[in-house]
Amino acid sequence: MTTSDVASTWDAERIRTADKEFVIHSWSNQGAVNATPIAGGLGAWFWDYDGNRYLDFQSQLVNMNLGHQHPKMVEAIQAKAAEMCYIGPNYAERSRAELAELMAEVTPGDLKMSFFTTGGAAANENAIRLARHVTGRQKVVARYRSYHGATAGAIAMTGDPRRWHAEPTPSGVVRMFDPYTYRCSAGHPDPCPVCTGGPHLEEILQYEDPTSVAAVILETVTGTNGLLPPPPGYLQSIRETCDKYGILLILDEVMAGFGRTGEWFACDNYDVTPDILITAKGLNSGYVPLGAMTVNEEISGWLMKNKFWGGQTYAGHPLACASGVASIEIMREEKIVENSREMGQRLRAGLDGLAERHPSIGEIRGLGLFQGVELVKDRSTREPLVPFNAVGPAAAPMGAIVAAAKKQGLYLSANNNVLRLTPPLVIGAEDIDLAVGILDDVLGIADEAAA
Ligand code: PLP
Repeated sequence: MTTSDVASTWDAERIRTADKEFVIHSWSNQGAVNATPIAGGLGAWFWDYDGNRYLDFQSQLVNMNLGHQHPKMVEAIQAKAAEMCYIGPNYAERSRAELAELMAEVTPGDLKMSFFTTGGAAANENAIRLARHVTGRQKVVARYRSYHGATAGAIAMTGDPRRWHAEPTPSGVVRMFDPYTYRCSAGHPDPCPVCTGGPHLEEILQYEDPTSVAAVILETVTGTNGLLPPPPGYLQSIRETCDKYGILLILDEVMAGFGRTGEWFACDNYDVTPDILITAKGLNSGYVPLGAMTVNEEISGWLMKNKFWGGQTYAGHPLACASGVASIEIMREEKIVENSREMGQRLRAGLDGLAERHPSIGEIRGLGLFQGVELVKDRSTREPLVPFNAVGPAAAPMGAIVAAAKKQGLYLSANNNVLRLTPPLVIGAEDIDLAVGILDDVLGIADEAAA
């Protein structure tokens, strides 16, 4: 029996049954899972065994920036597999060295050396440990709306309710509010300390002892929890406050990096360079698990004289690094960043048009192909269409919108009352217009729920 004979006995029903019985799915009650068996994908589309096609307006977990089955990615992984599938992290390996050199090239400012991990959480874990070693301090300031991953340290820095179920978490994390101008935690007084950034951080530091704080970690553009680009000046203000106290700035661009915002990195939109940049997802579009911690010249210099107390069996896995190299080459050759900017503008224009017809649209915000649509019951009061962290019937309108879109072949996601629109960066104008048309249709559900 050949491998393909074995594969052919796995029809959709067998896959569904085995998945239901044996696979533990993320963040789910397993009894409620009824996952659709997926047969394939190409570019911005994927399809199931019944022939239903879906326009992937989520890029899966906002990671498949280059879309499904990019031939050059597949080729690079196949070529690397034929050459060398694995060699330990402490040998010098071509793809690893090449990707690290490319990272120094494409990342902003003086970011230089990289440590490669298997994903975003692991990269954040290493960043925090390194920040503590470099500064000799313990505390980390993180934001409520940030998501940094599901491992112990990363979930401790995460502010959203997924953290509740991991408690007690490791100590040493202090939290600050996010610059959510539409629903400001400080009521948005003028000038607003929270949305300016520095003044809010400064106040927290005075109560925490700034000399005990190793790092501030932020999602440059908050992804999961509301899709919130920071207001102008915010990141500079945080950067200046960090510099004042010798605190390292870690920017988590696991979701926002690699072209998603219409620039190579989200921080490029604000001319701010972090001390440590965290990437994953779009780094190689998730073709093989990969994340990276990239550090500036000063920390690179420190690492030349001090031991790095971190490691993983699969740190800098050759297949992952080869796919990372291919991904950066494709981004350059196919002008992916430019396409993200251009298609982002087209999507935004379409959404602005929808706002004129759908009173349930409270705010549209985002950069490039990282767009969010916040739905409200009433534009004047800004009452959210569904309450924060709602489950069951209270959350039903958002679930109904996502389900109705899927029925029409548009795969999108929502968190609380915000729809996240994050298609692959290779998407074309026709598919953007198709999505806007479907959104026009399904947003009627929101208007009705709001009425
Ligand atoms: N940081 C951000 C901003 C993320 O969005 C995610 C995942 O969604 C992570 C970190 C965690 O990455 P991973 O799931 O690869 O561990």
